[in-house]
Amino acid sequence: MRSEPASSTYAVTGAVSGAGELLQLLRDETPRTRAELAKLTGLARSTVGARVDALLATGLLAPIGEAASTGGRPPVRFAFNPEARVVVGADIGATHGRIALTDLSGRPICEIGESLDITDGPAVVLDWLVATAHRLLEEAGRQPRELIGIGIGVPGPVEHSSGRPMRPPIMPGWDGYDVPAHVRRDFDVPVLVDNDVNIMALGEHAMAHPHVEHLLFVKVATGIGAGIISGGRLHRGAVGAAGDLGHVAAPHAPDVLCSCGNVGCLEAVASGPAISKALKEIDIVAESNRDIVDLVRAGNIPAALAVRQAGRTIGEVLATCVSLLNPQVIVIGGSLVQAGESLIAGVREVVYGRSLPLATGVLQIVAATTGVQAGVIGAATMVIQHALTADRVDLAIAQSAS
Ligand SMILES: [Zn+2]
Repeated sequence: MRSEPASSTYAVTGAVSGAGELLQLLRDETPRTRAELAKLTGLARSTVGARVDALLATGLLAPIGEAASTGGRPPVRFAFNPEARVVVGADIGATHGRIALTDLSGRPICEIGESLDITDGPAVVLDWLVATAHRLLEEAGRQPRELIGIGIGVPGPVEHSSGRPMRPPIMPGWDGYDVPAHVRRDFDVPVLVDNDVNIMALGEHAMAHPHVEHLLFVKVATGIGAGIISGGRLHRGAVGAAGDLGHVAAPHAPDVLCSCGNVGCLEAVASGPAISKALKEIDIVAESNRDIVDLVRAGNIPAALAVRQAGRTIGEVLATCVSLLNPQVIVIGGSLVQAGESLIAGVREVVYGRSLPLATGVLQIVAATTGVQAGVIGAATMVIQHALTADRVDLAIAQSAS
C-alpha cells in the first residue's frame, strides 16, 4: 500500500530527518563508531551524533561492544538491531499455508505450517492467518505493537498497490477481495500482498543472493512463473503481471491446449502435469509432482529424460529472457527442482547454447536453496523493504517525538 503520507507532510527537519538515511548504511549489520559514520557520510560529528541518538531511541540501532581505543575512553560501536521489531510473513498456497514471525533481517523466529483449502474463500483463510499470527506472537513473547507489518503471498495474480487478487484462476471468491482491509481489522499495520512467485523471488534473493542486482527466479511446479529482480528491486510491471512466463508460447511446442485457452503455452508443455502426461503415454504413472520427483530420484531413466526435456523447453523461453534482461543469476525453484540436476541441466543446455557470450559470461543457473521457507521469508522481506526506507524511518521518529 502506497497511501501513507510522505515524510514531507510532517515538519521533519535538521539532523533527525537524515536518521533514516543513516540507518540504510547500517543495514549491513556491521558495527561502526560515530567517528566512522562521520567519515563514511562526510557529515559533521554533531549531526551524526544527533541521528544516532534518534535511531537509538527507536531501538533500530543498538550499542554493540567497544572499538579499539586510541587513548582515553574507548568509543562505542553501533549496529542495526534486527530484533527491534517483528514481521509476519505468510505464504498461502492452494492446499497449504505457512506463516512465520521474523526479525527485521527476515530470519524466521518461529513458524507454523498447516493444511488449508484456498477455495474456502478469503474470510476463512484470512481469519486463520490472523489467528496464527496471534499464536506466533504469543509463542515468541512479542507484543502486537512490536509488529511493523504483514506480508502475504497468494497463488494467483495480485494488484500489488491495493492488495487485491485479480481474476485468480484457482482462488474462487477472492477476485477483487480487499485482503489488507480484512487483516487490518485485527492488526493496525501495513499489509502487503503479492503473488507467490514474486515473494519466492524476494526470499531467495534476500537469503541466497543478497548482493546480486539482476536475478530471475523461475518457479517450475504445477504452473510456471517468474519473479524478476532488476537493479536490486522486484520488477512488477504496469499492473503486477510481469514474469507471467507460463503462458508465453514455447518455441517448437506441439499444439497442446492450455488452461488459459491458448495452445502451446510453456505451462502446457513443460509443467508438472505436462510431464505426467508425457510419462503416461509411455505407461509410466506419475500423478503428482511429488511422484515425478520420486521417480527421478529412484533412477527412473524415462522420467529423468522427460524432466530434462521440460528443462530444455523452459530454457528456450529463458534464452529470450536472458537477451532481454541480462540477469547475473537464474534461480530455478518450485517442487520439480527437487528432481535434482535433470531439470537444471536441460535449462543450462539450451540457455548457454542460445544466448550470446556477453550475456552468459557471468550468468549462473542454479537451484533454489531456500526451500519451503522462501515464501515466508520473501513475504517478510517485502514488508521490511517497505517499512525501513529512509522516509518511513524518519516519519516514525517524527511521530514518536510528537
Ligand atoms: Zn496458457
